[in-house]
Order: sequence, then structure tokens, then C-alpha cells
Amino acid sequence: MVRMDFHIHSSYSDDSSLTVGEIVEFALQRRLQAVGIVDHVRMTAPWLAEREAEIRTLRARLGRRIDIFSGLEAKVLDSEGALNLSRGAAGSVDFVVGSIHGLPPNVLKGLQKSGPASLIGWWQDVISSLAQKEEVRVLGHPDRLLLDYEIRVPADTLADLTRVILSSHAFVEMNLPKAYATQPLLTTLIKTGARNIIFASDAHDMKGLRSAHEDVSAVCNRAVYAGNRRLRTVLAGKTSKKKHDPTISTSGP
Ligand SMILES: [Zn+2]
Ligand SMILES: [Zn+2]
Repeated sequence: MVRMDFHIHSSYSDDSSLTVGEIVEFALQRRLQAVGIVDHVRMTAPWLAEREAEIRTLRARLGRRIDIFSGLEAKVLDSEGALNLSRGAAGSVDFVVGSIHGLPPNVLKGLQKSGPASLIGWWQDVISSLAQKEEVRVLGHPDRLLLDYEIRVPADTLADLTRVILSSHAFVEMNLPKAYATQPLLTTLIKTGARNIIFASDAHDMKGLRSAHEDVSAVCNRAVYAGNRRLRTVLAGKTSKKKHDPTISTSGP
């Protein structure tokens, strides 16, 4: 049974209907051990301090019943993996999810003109850069773009990318309903015995959250459970350090 979920959007994201309280209530009902509240961020995020305060209050009230982690999902701006995220914002949360949320116009043009090879090259560059970025802890739905465009990535590209990811500190999300059986990068990582795969619903509403947690046990395996536990340990260390470290600002970007 999956007892953690590291990517749930709250209403601080402009496309989620779930309050922070509802997410935590759901997590308690399902007896989750850890939950990651992750919201879309841009260079400015005026709600950051308010959200951190809300999460801190819940943490204090619930004590050891559940680990509540705060995360931000930042979108990629270019092929070097530059993120739409300020340094201050990244430092104020437990972890950053780096995600591709669309194609830059020049990549889209290349795809239309010369086929999938240019997009695959760009995707490989972006995911490699993200994995090696100090501030990025989780690669958000790294295969989704390929599935959307129905693009097949050559096995040697996947093998190269897998090596880069395995030598980094990054964790890789497995989302539903498109489970890893259809996700080429995840499939390759699993075959190589990767220990850094986690479950994350990326839910934006109660229906999505419920259905992800109903379906998840069928597709999760021991590797994912172990990945979840590892990330929880990493983040718990960071949260306790943050609590006692006055040099880490929580006042926003
Ligand atoms: Zn995303
Ligand atoms: Zn998301």
C-alpha cells in the first residue's frame, strides 16, 4: 500500500481546488505517512510566506502523525534547465520539483519541420540539466511530454539519461493514470534497479487525488516504496534543519 504522495497541488496553485487543510485531512484518513504539498511557482510568489506558515501550524498540531513537506513546482524555461523560480523561494521550502510544462516555440517549430529527433535531443538536454541542478530534488513527470506527443525515444538515449539521473541526487516521479508501464524513462530506470523512483499523484482536485490513491497499489512495486522512504528521510532531515536554522529565510522570494 502506498503511504506517501509527494506532489499534490493546493489552492495556492491557480489550477487546484484543494485547500492545504483538505489535503492533510485526506492524508490522515488514508493513513499516509508523508505528504508533499507542491504548488506552481513563478519568479514572484506573494503567497509563499502565508503558505509556509499554514503548513508549519499543521505540522506543529499533528506532530508525529504525519510528515508534511512543502514543495514548489517550477517550470523549465530553456534547454539548460533554467527554472522560473527565485533563489529565495527555493530556499524557503523543503524541495523543488523541476518540470517541463510545454515546448518553447523554437523546439515546436523544429518538431514540425524535422520530426521528433530535435525534440528528443532537447528533452534529453533539459532532463539531464535538471537532474544535475543543486536546487532540484524531484524530476516532475519527466515522460509526460513524450506521451503527449506520442514520441518514442531510442534505447541508447534512455540509457544515457538513466546514467545521468542515477549519478545525481534527483528523484523521479511516477504519476498516474499513465503508470510506468507506458513511461519509457521510468521503465528504463526500473530495469536498471534505480532506487530513486517515487509515487506522486500530481493531483489538483479531490477526484484526482482519490482515484490516484485507489489505483496506485496496482502499479507500485517495492522499488517505489523504497524510493518513497528514501525521499521522506532526505526531506525530514531538511525540515528539522530548517526549523533550527535561522539563516534559512521563510519570508518568500
Ligand atoms: Zn507539472
Ligand atoms: Zn504538478
